[in-house]
Amino acid sequence: MSHRILVAGFKHETHTFSRVPTDLAAYRARALYAGQEMVEAMRGTASEIAGFLEACDANGWTAVPAVFADATPGGKVTREAFDHVLDAILGAVRAAGGVDGMLLCLHGAMVCEHDDDGEGALLRALRAELGRALPIAATHDLHANVTDAFAGLVDILVSYRTYPHVDQHVVAGEAAELLRRTLAGEIRPRVSVARGALMAGIDHGRTTAPGPMTEMLDRAAALMRDDPKVLSTSVNAGFSHADTFDTGPSVVAVTDGAHAGIGAALSGMMDAIWESRHRETVETVSVAAAMSRLGALASASAPVVIADFADNPGGGGYAESTGMLRALVEAGIAPAVAGVFHDAAVASQAHAAGLGATIDVCLGGKVDPELSPALPLRARVEALTDGRFRFSGPMLRGQPVDMGPSAVLEVNGLRIVVASKRFQCYDRMFFEHAGIDLGAQRVVMVKSAQHFRAAYQPLACEVLVVDSTEGLTTGDLKVFPYARVRRPIFPLDLD
Ligand SMILES: [Zn+2]
Repeated sequence: MSHRILVAGFKHETHTFSRVPTDLAAYRARALYAGQEMVEAMRGTASEIAGFLEACDANGWTAVPAVFADATPGGKVTREAFDHVLDAILGAVRAAGGVDGMLLCLHGAMVCEHDDDGEGALLRALRAELGRALPIAATHDLHANVTDAFAGLVDILVSYRTYPHVDQHVVAGEAAELLRRTLAGEIRPRVSVARGALMAGIDHGRTTAPGPMTEMLDRAAALMRDDPKVLSTSVNAGFSHADTFDTGPSVVAVTDGAHAGIGAALSGMMDAIWESRHRETVETVSVAAAMSRLGALASASAPVVIADFADNPGGGGYAESTGMLRALVEAGIAPAVAGVFHDAAVASQAHAAGLGATIDVCLGGKVDPELSPALPLRARVEALTDGRFRFSGPMLRGQPVDMGPSAVLEVNGLRIVVASKRFQCYDRMFFEHAGIDLGAQRVVMVKSAQHFRAAYQPLACEVLVVDSTEGLTTGDLKVFPYARVRRPIFPLDLD
């Protein structure tokens, strides 16, 4: 008999200090696909959903496609958005006349208006209707803040092992294989999690150079290899801009039944994570230091890639900070490109003025002008687009994007991509869809902290990661008024 397996995704990384609520419009702006629409959008991409669908095909399961909801990181998820996705999942189960298992792609750091533990709330609601016995396998981003409540309600949990995240598809296959073994009666999976007295660590999960994260992943792999009762291990760097009790790095194991030694093994890994807390493989620099370095690299034959670390939309940044851009404009750096700025008013102004027009704009400052002021610019409208394309990868290759009406503004050879919706700039198509030749630039500035490396590092003569401090994802956690995270904790109280 063919198993009916529900496939769904509900993702969000919530920056609890953001002013921008994550509502249904925020989901629609990035991805909100129901049923067959989800299959059409996601099949063949490098996503977890595609991995799940392929596993259903390979195992002869009947996939029950429910919903895929993903929003750019931002403020708390609204009750309406949460209920919408929950109803879509439960509605799909009812329409199918019940399911034999679930494959869920979750982020793991979702905070809702009504619950600090978004994924825990989702599982609680699913279990309330479907019972505890239904096998549920989930995937997580390695920036998950994993709670005990969630771990107790899910049967299988596997996190990404790459940052930039390029292994979603692989991890989905691993979760699906454990679900297959569960359905076959071969294993009885249980999830265990351990945390420490730290809310940031493991080098933010970076895997682009040997360091704390790669060392912990090796140790986690060894635990799995050496003990046949350990079915899977995950190392989560956590997402520290969420003010919740359980925020921070964690290690997770899926074991076959109860495992007497797993608690000690995971605690030992957390001790090692504590010891490595000051080690980072990437140094962030100030705007002034970056400009000085740009001067030294003036005759380089390949672009310098600048990451605007403090305003990374992938961590909840508003994508409107002008801190780094201001310095590039004032220094007259050209040819150069910068993006992606989220400013629907400026994009609309450019579309109204038309191609080739010269316009006076105030870029940024729409959400929080005190965090980063608007930048007045006289610019030429160089390109106008509908903001629609598919990612060229490696991250999420093939997935469709709709940034809304977008424009390229040119200021003395510096080109700025401005979109009507908010996206992290981790794919070359954010520029290339508008006809920009990235290789011909002296500087390429991206609003991204680390993900950009997958697509942009091969272009760069050097990468500069710049913390202008003018953004919600600045590295200094002490500027945020944390009230709910467990204390004492590193780095707020402990060193
Ligand atoms: Zn992540």
